[in-house]
Amino acid sequence: MSLDIVSPADGRRLATVPLTSAAEVASHTAHAQQAFASGVWSGLAPRERAAVLLRLADLMERDADVLARLDMEDAGKPIAECLANDVPGAVESIRWFAEAADKVAGAVPATPPDVLAFTEREPFGVVAAILPWNYPIAMAAWKIGPALAAGNCLILKPADTTPRSALHVEALAIEAGIPAGVLRVLTGDGPTTGAALAADPRIGALSFTGSTATGRSILEAAARSNLKRVSLEMGGKSPHVVMADALAFGDALVDGIVEAAFLTSGQNCTAGSRILLHESIRDEVVARLAAAARSLVVGRPEDPATQVGPVISAAAAERIVGAIDASVARGAVAVAGGGEVAVAEGGRYIAPTILAGVAPDDPILRTEIFGPVTTVQTFRTREEAIAMANDVDYGLAASVWTKDVDEAMAVARGVQAGIVSVGAYSEGDLTVPFGGWRQSGFGGAEKSLAAFHQWTREKTVWIQLG
Ligand code: NAD
Repeated sequence: MSLDIVSPADGRRLATVPLTSAAEVASHTAHAQQAFASGVWSGLAPRERAAVLLRLADLMERDADVLARLDMEDAGKPIAECLANDVPGAVESIRWFAEAADKVAGAVPATPPDVLAFTEREPFGVVAAILPWNYPIAMAAWKIGPALAAGNCLILKPADTTPRSALHVEALAIEAGIPAGVLRVLTGDGPTTGAALAADPRIGALSFTGSTATGRSILEAAARSNLKRVSLEMGGKSPHVVMADALAFGDALVDGIVEAAFLTSGQNCTAGSRILLHESIRDEVVARLAAAARSLVVGRPEDPATQVGPVISAAAAERIVGAIDASVARGAVAVAGGGEVAVAEGGRYIAPTILAGVAPDDPILRTEIFGPVTTVQTFRTREEAIAMANDVDYGLAASVWTKDVDEAMAVARGVQAGIVSVGAYSEGDLTVPFGGWRQSGFGGAEKSLAAFHQWTREKTVWIQLG
């Protein structure tokens, strides 16, 4: 069985990869188990693992153009974005986690004098990661870095449609000296390959990034199989709360909101898909945002000038345009965009769209659209803004735009989200945890030393002294 990889840009077939069966998943898991037990990786000193992972990062940097092209082709992401963000970010992630390999420490608690007790963090053995299609290389690096630095053997399943950058990294891992069986990339779909990983009793931990519906089914499979540790990073409906003084940010306000809404064609988990504006500045901000959205270059992903590429598939385009049309039918007004742009036959391109005048009960305010679409609502008070920000099932990210530190902190503390940026649209760098709350996830499981919590388990050793 195989999967065709099709270009979102023009529908061309790019490659064919194996669809890994449940039986093949089981045999790869068994092989990984042997690799772990042999100590060929888990038995190295952390600094030795770090050295190999640093080599992997160097090789990824050497092949940055190749990796960027693979993600550009598979996911339809603008090449400029892949070269400037995704690939350098992935290289930096592998380096950061490599350098952290010998900084994951246990503790020595204050026990009675006749006892020595300590805790240590140990790898699980075989672990798995299941990835989405919107940030193929970046998500792969967030998982590979800490999982391998901690000494695990990792089975990585890229998204059905975007596997080729991960396959290239698997080859680079061998070149870097990572032993066979330590990093295995299995191509395949969700119902067959992904579901087999979620149910596999030999996998000790599984890190998932993708939609909330799939996350729920993975958690169920883990519960029904071996209660593997599951960490979930899922969808969002992230707000930008723009307070009355926010025009003081000047162009940074407009640039930040536009980037948040339309980066990767809005197919971004932390996409700023709701703009909550203080009513006193509504007209000016909407006019400036609309002008900026209309000026974005929609085009083929390989064109270096392109800022907004195609959406991932025809089905996604139908869903996104359907959501825009339904909202307009309920009274919303598209102040920018509103429909498709003809760029290339076989690809589906949607104009960056801002909807104003959206009815308060419009489902578009609470559904993750996962396309270049954002909505505008207005508020009068800080309390009203916080209530609107929290009026969704998700809780991934939020941005607050104000120079008033009291106002900023009140909103930052009031918003139920795992990541809040103030005066910026930002997920922070590798030193801070990343993760959503509520139906966006279990919070703070990626990036920073916190990432090692999902890839290691704590052991207590209690020594009775004579
Ligand atoms: P998806 O849930 O459809 O697929 C994600 C992965 O899960 C794919 O590899 C797929 O093959 C696999 N899968 C599907 N069904 C499965 C099953 N039953 N068992 C096991 N695996 C299964 O998501 P997607 O469309 O690829 O990605 C878009 C979603 O990902 C959006 O909701 C987005 O917000 C979310 N996302 C979240 C983050 C984050 O860090 N929170 C980052 C990127 C994307």
